[in-house]
Amino acid sequence: MMTKADILDRIDEEGVDFLRLQFTDILGTVKNVSIPAGQAEKAFSEGIYFDGSSIEGFVRIQESDMRLEPDPDTFAVLPWRSRRSDGTVSARLICDVINTTTGEPFVGDPRFVLRRAIQRAKDMGYELNAGPEPEFFIFEQDEDGRATTKTHDAGGYFDLGPKDMAQEIRAEIIYMLQEMGFEVEASHHEVARGQHEIDFKYDDALTTADNIATFRAVVRAVAGLHGVHATFMPKPISGINGSGMHTHLSLFQGGTNLFHDDDDEFNLSEEAYAFLGGILEHAPAITAICNPTVNSYKRLVPGYEAPIYIAWSDVNRSALVRKPAARVPAASRIELRSPDPSCNPYLALAVMLHAGLDGIEKGMEAPGPVRENIYDFTEADRLERGIETLPSTLGQAVNALKEDDVILDALGSHVSEKFIEAKTVEYTEYLASVSGWELERYLETF
Ligand code: ADP
Ligand code: MG
Ligand code: MG
Ligand code: MG
Ligand code: MG
Repeated sequence: MMTKADILDRIDEEGVDFLRLQFTDILGTVKNVSIPAGQAEKAFSEGIYFDGSSIEGFVRIQESDMRLEPDPDTFAVLPWRSRRSDGTVSARLICDVINTTTGEPFVGDPRFVLRRAIQRAKDMGYELNAGPEPEFFIFEQDEDGRATTKTHDAGGYFDLGPKDMAQEIRAEIIYMLQEMGFEVEASHHEVARGQHEIDFKYDDALTTADNIATFRAVVRAVAGLHGVHATFMPKPISGINGSGMHTHLSLFQGGTNLFHDDDDEFNLSEEAYAFLGGILEHAPAITAICNPTVNSYKRLVPGYEAPIYIAWSDVNRSALVRKPAARVPAASRIELRSPDPSCNPYLALAVMLHAGLDGIEKGMEAPGPVRENIYDFTEADRLERGIETLPSTLGQAVNALKEDDVILDALGSHVSEKFIEAKTVEYTEYLASVSGWELERYLETF
């Protein structure tokens, strides 16, 4: 835990000239207010005021005064804004948003939504640990600096050597992440050409959500420095794998992993099964948050290692939830495979946690694992086993969210209303737009 005084010292030592105060809107976009380092003291004691009505999903003009409260634990020098010749650097602090009228945390702040979920877990005696596996594509830019979908390399899964031209970029991303305090566990070229994955060590839910937001910023910034474009769009190219963000979850209690049980066939505890039961129960509604774009559903189709069916497995990767092999008790966990990196990480972890806790609270039980490849099942097979499917469009997912009171409560009425409103507009617009596929298929046929 860092204190305000620690941060003021570090600002001095590092020669920080500007501080970026960051927060995210409901859609997960990072927002910045930049202040000269000389204002840091004031930022900590009084907060920085801003107009919340200009932020997506925050508030109406009439109630727009918001205050940013920097979280000292999130101080980091921005390594991609390299040290200038006069020795100065920029740094960032992630902030909580306060409603100035009430002096209370602003209910529309996604970080607060996650804090509320963490508090509920704490009240039940649990701490969530989460480890994400974000994937992304690196594409070339055209002469005008606009992103294309031309891949930067022709490498494949775990390829090395001259084929993997983006390797250097990936190495630099990792180097910068490490400078910002990340423990990077693995990185590799993914299945699709131009696609990459970097895994960092699991941490408590709030740290992990902050880390995901930071990770996306670092990846984009480093790519930009190399004149290429990194994208977390879930399915930029049809016909090849999309980008997911598998999320590994476990509940700890004072350093002990409560998901582990030596005596169980799959080394999972009763808590783990109940949590898993809650995740499966609320899977349709969670999908709206974890897969929040029209494009997310182009990834969630059969044949590309992305999940479609609401089931779990200890052996195959076609199920929604996988139980990864764990060499040590601390590593016993479940892996939710549906989330993609276009999600708001704060809201995504909040709904996963609430869903799991609901399973524990209601004593839910998970069905047995499915060990066959579910993609090969006929509809009759699935019906017989009671395996349901995930929503297949953003519209369906939003409808599922509307019907799930537990997940609506998890978000709170402010966030759920704004989210549903924004996503309904997005989906309606999409339905009315004419795509390239349609033109290719119909323009000359009719
Ligand atoms: P996969 O086998 O699906 O590729 P990885 O090994 O790439 O999975 O990713 C594992 C992720 O799980 C890492 O982020 C890691 O830190 C995380 N992890 C390990 N143990 C736990 C745990 N107990 N709780 C949550 N996450 C964990
Ligand atoms: Mg991985
Ligand atoms: Mg792995
Ligand atoms: Mg992967
Ligand atoms: Mg995985």
